[in-house]
Amino acid sequence: MPHSLIPIGTMYCLGRNYERHAREMGVEVPTFPVVFLKPPSAWVPSGSTVSIPSISKEMHHELELVVLLDRDLRNAGEEEAAEAVMGYAVGIDFTLRDVQSRAKERGEPWAIAKGFAGSAPIGPITPRAAVPDPHALAMRLLVNGDVRQEGTTADMILSVPRILSMLSGIFALRRGDLVYTGTPEGVGPVLPGDHLRAEIDGLEPLELSIDR
Ligand code: MN
Repeated sequence: MPHSLIPIGTMYCLGRNYERHAREMGVEVPTFPVVFLKPPSAWVPSGSTVSIPSISKEMHHELELVVLLDRDLRNAGEEEAAEAVMGYAVGIDFTLRDVQSRAKERGEPWAIAKGFAGSAPIGPITPRAAVPDPHALAMRLLVNGDVRQEGTTADMILSVPRILSMLSGIFALRRGDLVYTGTPEGVGPVLPGDHLRAEIDGLEPLELSIDR
């Protein structure tokens, strides 16, 4: 299913939704998740070449399960939230780690580190009905054929319905909005010339090249 069926909306992204990734970043698993946004313009499809912005020397990959909403959601319970899912896709939350680290030190927002052009590659959508359990999917990211991230969505701290319900109590979620559900451990840098292949079982893979 291509994305053109619905215009790309706001991208809501969870931080620290996998315990071992929180530990590798040297931070506590929060009682309330970190939430940040990417603008719709950050999206690129599979097959794209993503350029590392000149302000950064350290762009990291974060492999994530992405959820697409096919209806608006506001103050929804988990059952209603689960029904609002149109489908799932493989996504990468590209992060300018050096820019983000400086922002953290200064108490500044992550808008640049997380929202730059090309920071939100998302593969084709697989309809919800074709994904019996989104919390039992093996996931892996290969860079130039080497496995860099390997995990399972079973290790997510907050489930997809819980995330959507929680977000809908704060934001006015809309049809076409996307949710990045967090990354397992193993994040690391990509370099110009790298080829990335991101896989989540049952979903179509996401393939990207990196440029400067
Ligand atoms: Mn992330």
